[in-house]
Amino acid sequence: MDRPLTIEQGGNRFGRALRENRLRIAVRGGGHNGAGLGSCDDGLVIDLTRMKSVRIDPVARTVRAEPGCTQGDVDHAAHAFGLAVPSGIVSTTGIAGLTLGGGHGHLSRAHGLTIDNLIEADVVLADGRFVTASEREHADLFWALRGGGGNFGVVTSFLYRACAVTQVYAGPIFWSIEHAREVMRFYRDFLPRAPEKLCPFFGLKTVPSAAAFPEEIWGKRICALISCYEGSAAEGEKAMQPVRDALPPPLLDAMSELPFPSLQALFDDLLPKGLQWYWKGDFVKALPDAAIDAHIAHASRSPSELSLMHLYPIDGAVHRVRTTDTAWSCRDATWSMVIAGIDPDPRKAEALVAWGRGYWEAVHPYNLPGAYVNFMGDDEVEGRVQATYGANYARLTAVKKEYDPHNLFGVNQNIRPAA
Ligand SMILES: Cc1cc2nc3c(=O)[nH]c(=O)nc-3n(C[C@H](O)[C@H](O)[C@H](O)COP(=O)(O)OP(=O)(O)OC[C@H]3O[C@@H](n4cnc5c(N)ncnc54)[C@H](O)[C@@H]3O)c2cc1C
Repeated sequence: MDRPLTIEQGGNRFGRALRENRLRIAVRGGGHNGAGLGSCDDGLVIDLTRMKSVRIDPVARTVRAEPGCTQGDVDHAAHAFGLAVPSGIVSTTGIAGLTLGGGHGHLSRAHGLTIDNLIEADVVLADGRFVTASEREHADLFWALRGGGGNFGVVTSFLYRACAVTQVYAGPIFWSIEHAREVMRFYRDFLPRAPEKLCPFFGLKTVPSAAAFPEEIWGKRICALISCYEGSAAEGEKAMQPVRDALPPPLLDAMSELPFPSLQALFDDLLPKGLQWYWKGDFVKALPDAAIDAHIAHASRSPSELSLMHLYPIDGAVHRVRTTDTAWSCRDATWSMVIAGIDPDPRKAEALVAWGRGYWEAVHPYNLPGAYVNFMGDDEVEGRVQATYGANYARLTAVKKEYDPHNLFGVNQNIRPAA
């Protein structure tokens, strides 16, 4: 009888069988990827969605999470200890794909990207080895995992540094689209002056016809600031005073003090599973008036209530990490932009794509060449991934060659092994 295989032997044989059969492999964490990269046709899906353990160390202020966790799972466990891990803005997003792509959200300006708070990751490599990557062990792999996406292996556990965040003063303010030019220009100039504990992101959208909003504004095209102040309502109101003093009366001002996980879950009901999504991103360094005009013209023609454009700040603490410290290289941008065509009706798919592409083509000339990999569509060309990583790309291809020379993990924003 054959002796049982070690993980390495089993992994090796498994990997060889997959390579020889030319099977594509997708790795699924939270399954939330807009381009659908957590799955593939005619291939094998390594589905990690049931690996959902979260363990908090309140003394060390760390959080260990398995890759099937959503942000909501992590928020729920960490909040009980007065802690939070900086991540994204919708609680149903998977922590794994979000982390490996970088991770920006309500706490980025004060605490950095999710990867800036990653201490170590356990990884099953293409050859079946199981390793821990950190600053001390497999430091090159750890560098690449922080922004390089799912290119280097299957991560089975993440260890994060947590920050002491419990209550926040947060929520949306909506203005009619007629004020969009004034609000967007003000926002551009206000952001560098705003305290880092305040993280306001900007949106051009339509008010969804949903019970969460007053019926009289359903379907209205708007511009929005969705802000989070880390602290009490009194402090947050002070930080937001310049906004309220300078801008016209809003259609809706729903900022209030609330627990951080409640803020994270605020938009969950609007974005259930199964929607049609088409999205395109860009990193944005500056917003000249002409770019603002192009944004407003295209956003005003969005084909559905859920379609949107968001600009997420990536300044503050994100800028204090050097471009070469992690694979995530666009540290000098001011915003990460996403244009998302979203609708429940599959018959709208073509209209969503046409609108998203047309909008992106109009504003891209004002933006940086690359985009946040987690906001790229499935129609991005290889040159775009390269443009995103810039000077870090060559090092990424070298790490890929060392850890995944046959590109076994190829269903992602793919980095090819160096020749
Ligand atoms: C509604 C919505 C809101 C969003 N908001 C934000 C936001 O605020 N901030 C932000 O930064 N991003 C945001 N995103 C983007 C999000 O980060 C990506 O969609 C991300 O890919 C989701 O991760 P996932 O684990 O759910 O994805 P999946 O679909 O499971 O996987 C996505 C990619 O990651 C790889 N991957 C997943 N798990 C592993 C693993 N364990 N090991 C190796 N590779 C793995 C997959 O191979 C695939 O390429 C949002 C997305 C949506 C749909």
